[in-house]
Amino acid sequence: MKSINDIVKKVDIVNIVSSFATLNKSGTSFKTTCNVHLDSSPSLFVNPKKQIYKCFVCDHGGDALDYLMWSQKFDWNQAIEFLLKASGEEVDNYRHFFHNKREYSELEKKLLKASSDASDLFNYFLNIFIEEDNDILEFIKKRKLTKEQINQFKLGYAPSLEEKNYIEQLEKKSNEKSVLINASLLNENGTRPFFNKRLVFPIFDEENNVVAFSGRKVLENIEAPKYINSKESLIFKKSSIIYNYNNAKKYEDLIIVEGFMDVISFSKIGFNNVVALMGTSLSSEIIKKLKNHKEILIFLDNDQAGIKATLSIVKEFLKNGINAFILENKYSKDADQIINEENGQQKILNILSSKIKMVDYIIWCFFKDVSKNDYENIKKSIIELSYFVKTNDQFIKLEIIDKLSQKLEIDKKLITSYFDLNLVKFKQIENEVNVVNDSLSKKRFDNSLNTVKLLISIWKNPSFIGLLNIDDIYWPEAKYKKIYKDIKNYFESKQNLSKETIIFLENNQKKFSSKESLAQNKASFNELVLRTKEESNQRKLLDINNLMKKTSNDIQRKELLKTKLDLLSKRKDKK
Ligand SMILES: [Zn+2]
Repeated sequence: MKSINDIVKKVDIVNIVSSFATLNKSGTSFKTTCNVHLDSSPSLFVNPKKQIYKCFVCDHGGDALDYLMWSQKFDWNQAIEFLLKASGEEVDNYRHFFHNKREYSELEKKLLKASSDASDLFNYFLNIFIEEDNDILEFIKKRKLTKEQINQFKLGYAPSLEEKNYIEQLEKKSNEKSVLINASLLNENGTRPFFNKRLVFPIFDEENNVVAFSGRKVLENIEAPKYINSKESLIFKKSSIIYNYNNAKKYEDLIIVEGFMDVISFSKIGFNNVVALMGTSLSSEIIKKLKNHKEILIFLDNDQAGIKATLSIVKEFLKNGINAFILENKYSKDADQIINEENGQQKILNILSSKIKMVDYIIWCFFKDVSKNDYENIKKSIIELSYFVKTNDQFIKLEIIDKLSQKLEIDKKLITSYFDLNLVKFKQIENEVNVVNDSLSKKRFDNSLNTVKLLISIWKNPSFIGLLNIDDIYWPEAKYKKIYKDIKNYFESKQNLSKETIIFLENNQKKFSSKESLAQNKASFNELVLRTKEESNQRKLLDINNLMKKTSNDIQRKELLKTKLDLLSKRKDKK
């Protein structure tokens, strides 16, 4: 058994409920009185086929685990233990599903009580104000929130001071002012309610305690942040809480969405394994929990912010070895909007069927604007990506290098060396590159034959001047560059040739007496330029090698190494 949900599926909800209440047959279902509300006529129904219960007065339902926790007020451990025993399992084999019981301090208990009281009150206000207040009613309608969702997520309404003073009511329930401030129910001066005319989402910890709230403004035209969240407190640490994890944790697979509204909309179409993160930094405790799930799907908004957040999560997940996929959202709308439009459910099913591996996603992100031959950007992006991945997992690294090599058609070894540029393994790569250089220097091309050939060809055919970009050549000696400029000026500006150039031309023209050895046309000239460039690169490499031997400054050496790798790759490009 891999998940709590497997245990839940193993029991029969009819047996579970009948341990506490007398069930009477009603059509294909069973019915009994609900013990949460004052029930005179049976309004809690149990459906053996779907394995769910529902109280039609409380508008609350769920599976056997939900029943134990909601109706019988079991805590998580008690409920799991009950289910394990009911299905004949050895409880000790499933200890990893149990929560470590936390001991709360006096102040923490007070904060929990204040939050719980506030949540009850907000929920009560929402149910009342929905009948009378046009603003909140309007908002609920527009967002297509049903009573079932309001109850399932215990949504609430924090009225404005003019409408109702919720602080007064909380104080009546013996919550101290200092505690209310600490729990972000009252502002820091203690003068105004923290939440003011907002739809309130209570945030539960895993034990189903309300530990914080998020308030969505009801009036769009009011100058205020769209959402405000409780400040962190002894009971609320953003990095340790995942919204709706209290409900979703029992599932093998999880879907991570961007906002609370997305989580709620997903539940409308039957997905209860959907959660929202409270930020992109995740505590080690949360990481450990997420690792227990077989598969995690990341489904954030398809905008700049959403892509950025996805990348941050992917970074955390890769670092911590969490298995996840990215869902490709082609609709440029958030999940909530998609679900609420026509054929929303079908669209979501389509999205769920096209998942992308995290590695493919980051490659897409880093290389979406880089074309195959844009060498500068390829190099830059590989280095950026390597900074990003920072994983110790060699398999992931190798997979990325493999895929990049295929995508960009570049040698794996080169990608690896760029990949490692930012790592401390600097020395090691340096040695590797030196091996390449050694074989190179063995060729020992002291001759400047191609350069000379190039210059004579230009002298014989001045139209070649326009084909040459002088910066492309790393001249073997400064005098060749001078000669080139001299010849260029002679033809373009009718300047006289220098004595040195005249001697050079006289000495070398004879070497190329046969016509074939000089460039005859555009194509053969271009080929000659390529060969000269190749020679210049080799020369440049040797020069860099010598420089590197001389300098001990690490930053300078790193720069030199980068240039070196660059040159090496240009050589490879040509092959
Ligand atoms: Zn009820």
